[in-house]
Amino acid sequence: MYFLSIISVSFFLIVASEAKVLNKNANTCEEILGPLVDEIRSYEDVKDKILNYVLNGDFKRKTYDELAIFVDKFGARPSGTQVLEDSIDYMIELSRKEGLEDITTEEVVVPRWERGEEKLTMVEPRIKNMVILGLGRSVSTPPEGITAEVVVVKSFDELENTPDENIKGKIVLYDPIFTTYGETVAVRSQGASKASAKGAVASLVRSVTQFSINSPHTGSQNYADGVIKIPTAAISLEDADLIRRLYDRGEKIVLNLQMSSTYDDTKVSRNTLVDLKGSQNPEKLVIVSGHIDSWDVGQGAMDDGGGLFISWAAPVILKRLNLTPKRTLRAIFWTAEELGLIGAYAYKEAHKEELNNINFIMESDEGTFAPLGLYVSGNTRTRCIAQEVLKLFKSINASTLIEQDGAGSDIAVFTGNGIPGASLYNDNEKYFWFHHTEGDTMNVEDPDELDLGAAFWTAVSYIIADLSEDMA
Ligand SMILES: [Zn+2]
Repeated sequence: MYFLSIISVSFFLIVASEAKVLNKNANTCEEILGPLVDEIRSYEDVKDKILNYVLNGDFKRKTYDELAIFVDKFGARPSGTQVLEDSIDYMIELSRKEGLEDITTEEVVVPRWERGEEKLTMVEPRIKNMVILGLGRSVSTPPEGITAEVVVVKSFDELENTPDENIKGKIVLYDPIFTTYGETVAVRSQGASKASAKGAVASLVRSVTQFSINSPHTGSQNYADGVIKIPTAAISLEDADLIRRLYDRGEKIVLNLQMSSTYDDTKVSRNTLVDLKGSQNPEKLVIVSGHIDSWDVGQGAMDDGGGLFISWAAPVILKRLNLTPKRTLRAIFWTAEELGLIGAYAYKEAHKEELNNINFIMESDEGTFAPLGLYVSGNTRTRCIAQEVLKLFKSINASTLIEQDGAGSDIAVFTGNGIPGASLYNDNEKYFWFHHTEGDTMNVEDPDELDLGAAFWTAVSYIIADLSEDMA
């Protein structure tokens, strides 16, 4: 998951008012939908057929096993690398083996930021090595590194209120305590630019997570136009808290930061579109999606291997069950999400004349733990239809609808502009423990939860793709 901070902040507010919003609609959805309510309820048997096939039948454990084979074979899949392209070819072949022939790739120009050696040493008040992960697009330090005193701030406000002369020539450490991802991530994504504008020579950020076993978490950042690009990295919660304690005691803290990397923004990757053609309105689309690229650490099993594989599974399961919806079900494997939703923006541009063919767009990029329901974007009618569909999933405890304008990460490019869509709401309390770390491996994934996710994702997308009426 990348971020759109404005959207994520509003998501927080929406969750807080969830109960009220749903109650307001509860009495009116039946009136708005009329006979469509009974039509949706008639999908009970099809839903059971899909759930049974995945939870107890031939597809049981298949999503987990295929994901494991994939991430064990390719490992991390950073934007702009050959391994990412090889993993895309592999997914195309895996889909073809399932009899899915309608597969298209669309080229996208993407960046390649390649991490080199990275080292952080506290040299005063005592020598201590600290683990770091450079942030995406960070520039290098000179070979001998940058040695400077540290200034610790909690927020941009505190930075702005500190006189420039106290920042100049120093390393700024941001150490906000995690609240929500959308809120906390701003110091990671914009911290280097803001510190540089005040004269800092490098910036560090306390990793954006609630929990740590001394693990740094990487992520993207962008340099603002016109600022001097300074090196920037994440440190562990433990080291950030150590520096904070020393700093608050009035100790002078000096760090040596050594980082190297290369950057090339002329690489080519591909979005992958796997279609199960609709029987009545093939031009209309219900999209399920996840991103195939990952950070360069861990295996990208959680972010976003799980979302990729439940989206791959949807057309596969329907094909195996001979279920052809009226509209086309399209699985999209987005490329280059992590460096800024690059694949999603490219798809939007390439298909700008036909965006109104998107009946509903779905994405899983916040973990594939046990599914709980959907975050839904769209007008009242869209939300009512989604709510009725979700009622079919009470047996697996996945009936919750949370209204969220601009749902998703990649798909926020669409849902933020009024296209109806949803992202997977799942039991992901521990998601940010592993996010963008060496710990994002198969050990985070659970076969039964992936089965539930794949079954839910397939059945929801099938029903919406097959209904007699459009979502909006
Ligand atoms: Zn992701």
